[in-house]
Amino acid sequence: MKSSNLGYPRIGENREWKKALEGFWAGRLAESDFLKQMEVIRLRHLQKQKNLGIEWIPVGDFTFYDHMLDLAVMFGCVPKRYDYDGSGPVPLSTYFAMARGSETAIACEMTKWFNTNYHYIVPELGEIKSRLTENKPLQAYREARDKLGIQGKPVLVGPYTFLKLSKGYEPKQLPALILQIVPLYAKVLQELADEGVEWVQIDEPILVTSVTKDEMKTVAYIYQQLQEAAPKLQIMLQTYFDGVEWYEDIIDLPVAGIGLDFVHGLEGNLQAIARFGFPEDKILGAGVIDGRNIWRAHLSEKRNLVDTITRIVPQERLWLQPSSSLLHVPVTVEHEGQLDSIVKEALAFADEKLTEVQCLVKSVRNGDALEVFVQSEEALKRLNQSPARNCGEIQEEVSRIQYQQVERDATFEERREKQKHWNLPLLPTTTIGSFPQTLEVRQARRKWRKGEWATEKYDSFIQDEIRKWIGIQEEIGLDVLVHGEFERTDMVEFFGEKLGGFTFTENGWVQSYGSRCVKPPVIYGDVEFLLPMTVKESVYAQSLTEKPVKGMITGPVTILNWSFVRDDLQRSEVAFQIALALRKEVEALEAAGIKMIQVDEPALREGLPLKQSAWDHYLEWAVKAFRITTSTVADMTQIHTHMCYCDFHDFIEPINQLDADVISIETSRSHGELITTFHKNAYHKGIGLGVYDIHSPRVPSCEEIVDVIAGGLAALDPAQFWINPDCGLKTRGAEETIQSLKHMVEATRLVRERMTVLEWFK
Ligand code: GLN
Ligand code: ZN
Repeated sequence: MKSSNLGYPRIGENREWKKALEGFWAGRLAESDFLKQMEVIRLRHLQKQKNLGIEWIPVGDFTFYDHMLDLAVMFGCVPKRYDYDGSGPVPLSTYFAMARGSETAIACEMTKWFNTNYHYIVPELGEIKSRLTENKPLQAYREARDKLGIQGKPVLVGPYTFLKLSKGYEPKQLPALILQIVPLYAKVLQELADEGVEWVQIDEPILVTSVTKDEMKTVAYIYQQLQEAAPKLQIMLQTYFDGVEWYEDIIDLPVAGIGLDFVHGLEGNLQAIARFGFPEDKILGAGVIDGRNIWRAHLSEKRNLVDTITRIVPQERLWLQPSSSLLHVPVTVEHEGQLDSIVKEALAFADEKLTEVQCLVKSVRNGDALEVFVQSEEALKRLNQSPARNCGEIQEEVSRIQYQQVERDATFEERREKQKHWNLPLLPTTTIGSFPQTLEVRQARRKWRKGEWATEKYDSFIQDEIRKWIGIQEEIGLDVLVHGEFERTDMVEFFGEKLGGFTFTENGWVQSYGSRCVKPPVIYGDVEFLLPMTVKESVYAQSLTEKPVKGMITGPVTILNWSFVRDDLQRSEVAFQIALALRKEVEALEAAGIKMIQVDEPALREGLPLKQSAWDHYLEWAVKAFRITTSTVADMTQIHTHMCYCDFHDFIEPINQLDADVISIETSRSHGELITTFHKNAYHKGIGLGVYDIHSPRVPSCEEIVDVIAGGLAALDPAQFWINPDCGLKTRGAEETIQSLKHMVEATRLVRERMTVLEWFK
């Protein structure tokens, strides 16, 4: 039995990777110094894994930005707009232009890596003839061997996943692309074999999604080619994030090892090996330590799992490893000084997880349990028995609601009639919630956090901002106003800091995209409503105007999906706890006279499981969580929600189920698609279409917005139609925001006028 790792966080213990990158981009660091610093970081990470006792250490997983971008560049897939002449390795400037855009060319698209919060750069294929510009895994292998004496395991994303995640081609072009790309992989592998590499890890996480039987034939063809190209090289075909879809086909592939996730795909993968066995000529890479959460493993239970596996696959043919790359967890718990010790003791970040892998291997080799088994068990027991995890009342409430129907008293149609008391005009205009978080706002918050400003001073600063922006909104002529969210940094952190059951690490950063890192809140206990969180600001804003001001909170599913979540409960149970706490906030807002309340759920869709077969279950509890939060209000109270994406074709019914009175969505860049969606699927509740893109500082003209509105009206009834920007405005400047909103209101006025003339809405 060997210990192995699949990938290590790049950012460094103190985010030194991020700092080097940003220093280089800002011109503070010369290219040679940047490269040197990166090398130091890279080697330090390899050495650390070696010191932790890992036998198969991944090399080539390190990157200057993103591993998919590395691969695209290695294959010369550089879109024409970057003016790369096609000879030699792609220059660093081109690499970063693809990642971040340049003066002359926009950046490549970025999207989420499977069900994680990591974003990869989407390779653009199609027009480009690919070729091998350099062999990055080989360079990484040589470096580890020559500098540290480490016989590494080069890692690269496999051909099928690479192609499936790329864009710029029609499905019918896939075979041609395979014929282009596979020989490049073959060449990379041949060179690795010639260098004496023993094992290469080829990641094919796409195999845990809903691939078809026909696609498996393509996968078999690809691996046949790779095997023939480098027959002596041993390929560990690595999957993760869920169980594999076609186990019997996968174990038949001509590779030397198969890596399976026995955490997130535990049930499916375990059943598969039990039922179909595991080939005698292959190594099984068993992902037994969770690569996605931050909790210590219950090592005796893990040991039992390993024993179950070894009944089918003998020790000699087993590697123990994390369930996925450790990219998705912070680096080490070591420097967490301020956490409650009960919580800290129960945490395991990347380094601690590798130690766990190593301990399991040791215990199997020695044939007994280790001292640390007891320690991990006790640490988890202490946390599980702590008062924070044993709030009887909350748990009872959750178990009660599990079996209850949750719905508003009246149907949407009945509510709509009662909600006419606002006398809103046709096509009401509004915004999504946040207004520009200027330098001034951020500085004020910093001063207050540092104690330089007293709370009263900070509060009155926030009030001034609210007053200013209520005035601006009235002047612009918006119909439904917001307070502007000046008091919030982040829409999840803000609530996490005010609810019971959450805590925050000092250094628990994970890479989100490029140099951007996030520090998700940690939900460690039962989630409890303590005090009203948003009432003060909303009530103040409402006191300044006759127009309705929307209350504004983040929804339960988004808070869940953007946090690290305790793993002793089902995710649905945690979602219900959050939902019940937020219900109290909604009720507090309503009691304080706020009768339009927006509950944002931008992360609801991204929580969808990788396998379509699991969607219904997820949606059932996610929708229910939203309804728990929003269903106890009076018929006259109008519930809004917001989601920032436009991919709606398969999502209308879940949205309908939320039963929000009004939803606002992003559509400005895709209203064509939207119209076909709504033509096919009738949707009758209030819906606000994003009429301009807030991701760019550009001020849209009135005429453009008129066109977008007219496009929307072709699909939707004017009586249900709201007008708003695509998303919150906190990243925008004040001037451009005001200008854009003026154009939006003016465009709406023009459309209303034309509709009157045409008697459109009789
Ligand atoms: N209300 C939030 C805002 O306006 C919504 C943000 C989001 O959808 N991501 O900032
Ligand atoms: Zn949004």
